[in-house]
Amino acid sequence: MLGRKKWISSALVLSTIAGLTLSTLEPGFHSERAEASALKIQPLESVSLVQLSVPNNQKALDKLSELGIDLTHRVHYENGMLEVDAVVTPSEMAMLKLYGITVKDTLITERQLNQRAAERRTAIQQEKQLTSAEETVTFLRANHFTNQSDTFLYVEAKSTSGATSSTILTAKWTENGAEKTATLQKIEDAGEYLYHSFMLPVTEIPSEVTIESSLGGTSTSKVTEWLGADKPDKPKKHYVKNFVDHYMDPTEINARIENLVKEYPELAEIVEMPNKTNGYRRQAQATIGTMQNAAVVVTSKAWGHEGGNAISLELKKAGAADAPLSVGTSGSKIIVTLATDPDGNARSTAKEVVDVLNAEASNLVTATTYRNNAGNGIVEPATANLSDNLKAPASVSREPAAVKAIRIGKHRDGSKPGVLGYSQEHAREWVTPLVSVETAERLLRNYAHDKDTRKLVDNLDIFIIPSMNPDGAHYSFYDFNSQRKNMTNHCSPAQSDNGYRNSWGVDLNRNHNVGSAFDGYVGASTTNCLSGTYAGPSEHSEPESRNLVWLANQNPNIKFAMNIHSYGGYFMWSPGAYTPERETLPRPSAGEEAYYWQASDHILKEIKKHRGTVILPSRTGPIPDVLYSAAGNSADFLWYEKGIYAWNFEVGADLWNKETQRWELVGFQPPFEEGHEEAMEFSNGLLGLIDVAYEYSRDNKAPKSSITPNGGKHDDIVEVSFSTSEPATIYYTLDGSRPTYESQKLQLSGTREGAETLTFNKTTTLNWFSVDASRNVENKYEPGKNKKYNSKTFIIK
Ligand SMILES: [Zn+2]
Repeated sequence: MLGRKKWISSALVLSTIAGLTLSTLEPGFHSERAEASALKIQPLESVSLVQLSVPNNQKALDKLSELGIDLTHRVHYENGMLEVDAVVTPSEMAMLKLYGITVKDTLITERQLNQRAAERRTAIQQEKQLTSAEETVTFLRANHFTNQSDTFLYVEAKSTSGATSSTILTAKWTENGAEKTATLQKIEDAGEYLYHSFMLPVTEIPSEVTIESSLGGTSTSKVTEWLGADKPDKPKKHYVKNFVDHYMDPTEINARIENLVKEYPELAEIVEMPNKTNGYRRQAQATIGTMQNAAVVVTSKAWGHEGGNAISLELKKAGAADAPLSVGTSGSKIIVTLATDPDGNARSTAKEVVDVLNAEASNLVTATTYRNNAGNGIVEPATANLSDNLKAPASVSREPAAVKAIRIGKHRDGSKPGVLGYSQEHAREWVTPLVSVETAERLLRNYAHDKDTRKLVDNLDIFIIPSMNPDGAHYSFYDFNSQRKNMTNHCSPAQSDNGYRNSWGVDLNRNHNVGSAFDGYVGASTTNCLSGTYAGPSEHSEPESRNLVWLANQNPNIKFAMNIHSYGGYFMWSPGAYTPERETLPRPSAGEEAYYWQASDHILKEIKKHRGTVILPSRTGPIPDVLYSAAGNSADFLWYEKGIYAWNFEVGADLWNKETQRWELVGFQPPFEEGHEEAMEFSNGLLGLIDVAYEYSRDNKAPKSSITPNGGKHDDIVEVSFSTSEPATIYYTLDGSRPTYESQKLQLSGTREGAETLTFNKTTTLNWFSVDASRNVENKYEPGKNKKYNSKTFIIK
């Protein structure tokens, strides 16, 4: 429907943020008026995830855009209204109402989000208790049996610490003189740990099996014959999965992949990215005073953990009348003695206190008035301890963090096609690193016994980056669940008081250089540092996004990538951005688009296998066709600059509620039970992409193409359509010249449509050849070397 498209296009401008912030828009917040009415300073507001109903008028949409509302990835069109999910504060909600934008449902409150963090702490606590006690491993069964197909070894064992994912049980036995090993699969029912098991065909029945646990427990059992009269089911292939059992912060995630590498040194290594993050750290701050014109904002020179948090500030009135304003420091303590008038009343203004602090205490702090206020109100006596407000335990490093990838493959020398999976560009998307880690574990732990896994690891070079944004992610886990961006503050001093601390940072999926907001594309802000989609001060300004550039430059063998986000259940590819006129970045050629769809079909089927989740066709396709314009996103960088087939997942498909007959969203941090299911199904999907890469590596069959109608004599205008034996790009000329890779490519006929047809209204010679995704060329044609291209002449009377 045309109407719908137009709608989405203007609605989606809402993710472009004008250079205005809510506080400067709201009339009462305007700085000059603030002087006059002496407004109270703004506390840090709580946020909720709500569903907004946006009416059918340009004004409402423009307003949403102007306000810089933090939108999630989920946009839905229903009954003539646009439904969008957004993370908003109470004052933003009040503001939206004025423009006819209503809050339809409050989906998740900050309190509920905090419960997720509490849930996770409990899980870790339980894990600690379970793993600190001395572990024992008990055999439930060690059997062999022979059925019509083969002879099998079947083992069940239970660990006293088996309920935690850090318990990995490995079996060892001897077969024909050779030592064999296998990782056991954890078996659970309704969330309860039952045991670990495995079943494998053997060439010789071993006399005994030993189980060793990663926690140190060990046990050995004789292998006996299974005597049951019933024949067992046809043996299932031994395939181990389910390696995640709680949400993990980047510190845990990195430890996890490092341990994996230690365990599988021949198959995996850590790739440490060259650009360290700014670090999970902040300067210590305090905003002293209750009125805007009489408030002083103080920021430590040192990081909070490096002394800033020890700084205290006391503003006290001089004991005598007519005393001058002065500052004294003793260690980390700053004492400001406020000037007094002849009657002994304090008379120093905020501006005067700011100036004297900057003159006399500049070794410890920087001071400003509140949000550009002139600061002519009289400062009241007060005391404050500065704080960086960071609540993560000391075990989370405050130093610049290394972003790490785990590289998996038997041959990690660039000789094999590369596949890249990267997650958590957006900090609050807690499920996404689980998808990555689960996938890495499956590839390594199934290598020994699953031949399908082995062929992937032997023939591909797989890069997995579980957390692209470790600083923001730590902040999301410990300080502010809804954190989306990194932690680096690019705001001016006027927007750098601690009341804004949850709004700083750069959207790492808007900081890239293709179709960027700096080039005028829609879906990010270059001017509002507090916007949820702030693109940063310049393209690739952030170390986190430069790391992706580095990895792609360093490894030109990478041909496939998956950018893993949440939520909404989308599956998308380039183009990812358009201009305000809705002119998209160049569409892939018809052949490339067909390849995207073909690969998607396999990947989505793999996702469906886990619990039947179907990614809807309406949420599958090029980004602007199904979601919105996302200027400067990373997948567009990979596709347009690096020629990498680059997809985006939004894990967490809506769930169908049978009772209400409605789709329900899952959110960024669903209860772990749901998060776990999402991790399992999208790990299937990521492995599906790795399958696609494998097929690509094996494909040496050239495509074949044909046209209808054929050349020859035609009475009237001819419309020629192409078909190919597999997805392939067609290069063609119409002027009789030999086609080359610089020739015209057959394009799509329109958004979400098939390949275009070529129309001839006069006699024309059509020369063409086709090339598949693996660069196999039809009929071994080599431009400039031979003439094996196709040629047909259409004679129009
Ligand atoms: Zn995201």
